[in-house]
Amino acid sequence: MKIRINDPFWWDKSYNFQVGCSKISEGCRFCYAIPGTSRLKSHGNDQYIDVAKKINGRWKWTGQINRATDTIVNKPLRNTNTIFFANSMSDVFHKNSDDNTLLEVLDIMEENMWRQNTLMLLTKRPYNIMKFLERTGAGFPISTWLGVTVENRKALKRISILRDVPCAFRFLSIEPLLEDLGEVDLRGINFVIVGGESGGKHVRRMEYDWVKNIQEQCLYHGVPMWFKQWGRPESNPLAQSTPPGMTVNQWVRKKELEALVEQGIMCRKCTINGEEERCKKCNKIAKGGSLLDGKFFKDHPCRKRWYKKLLQEIGR
Ligand code: SF4
Repeated sequence: MKIRINDPFWWDKSYNFQVGCSKISEGCRFCYAIPGTSRLKSHGNDQYIDVAKKINGRWKWTGQINRATDTIVNKPLRNTNTIFFANSMSDVFHKNSDDNTLLEVLDIMEENMWRQNTLMLLTKRPYNIMKFLERTGAGFPISTWLGVTVENRKALKRISILRDVPCAFRFLSIEPLLEDLGEVDLRGINFVIVGGESGGKHVRRMEYDWVKNIQEQCLYHGVPMWFKQWGRPESNPLAQSTPPGMTVNQWVRKKELEALVEQGIMCRKCTINGEEERCKKCNKIAKGGSLLDGKFFKDHPCRKRWYKKLLQEIGR
């Protein structure tokens, strides 16, 4: 696992074995994937042909899903000990997804368990997971994590559907968090990611209390929580204390560097350079910053611990 504490992401590599989507709920309003798709298409990447088109000057999904090249589909075969986040430019369980592609990916994961790779499959359409399993007779290898997006109270019902899916590990992506979720049923949930909206010109605000509500529930139930980012800079409570002459981002970066020192976090490069000369990556901040009450709150279900527990459970 190569994740660093000030990284916004909880995974090592993206793995886009399919691209293309259509909007389904409030979390999709400023879908970050559409601008990326149009850019990649204009760079001559054939995989992105016809998945989006410009209508009245704005890019929109067409609903077409394209499979990636064999080289991309086989990506986990070139890595070990890596967490792959699948289909950041799509929804794995979109109704137009190709069953055969996912079956191929699951086979790769199953047959290469020795590589200790992990595959994270995230969806806003959990009702299609069971349909996929029934249709194909497939199962999820223990190295495959299944997750749902929960952006508002309406989306809470996705959690109970996920709980019924036969799989070894379930996670929630509470991003973008758009309102106070109230009580969240965390039974059977192994990991929670929380973050504010980051894409689009009209990024919506996330309130401190909404984040704390989830953090408290995760702490109470012992579920690791990864706080990704505030998104809109004004959502970050630090913004209110920005000293004159500094931008919010400069102030947040300064506070994050202090927190890195306080939490004793030095990457190998920074250890050589010294605290004042942080490497480029450690100097970067996530959108809006990611300190929660002055600390990085990035609890991750350590894969080594997870595999150890899992191997004990299955008696290996
Ligand atoms: S599910 Fe994800 S990729 Fe698809 S439209 Fe919504 S935000 Fe975009």
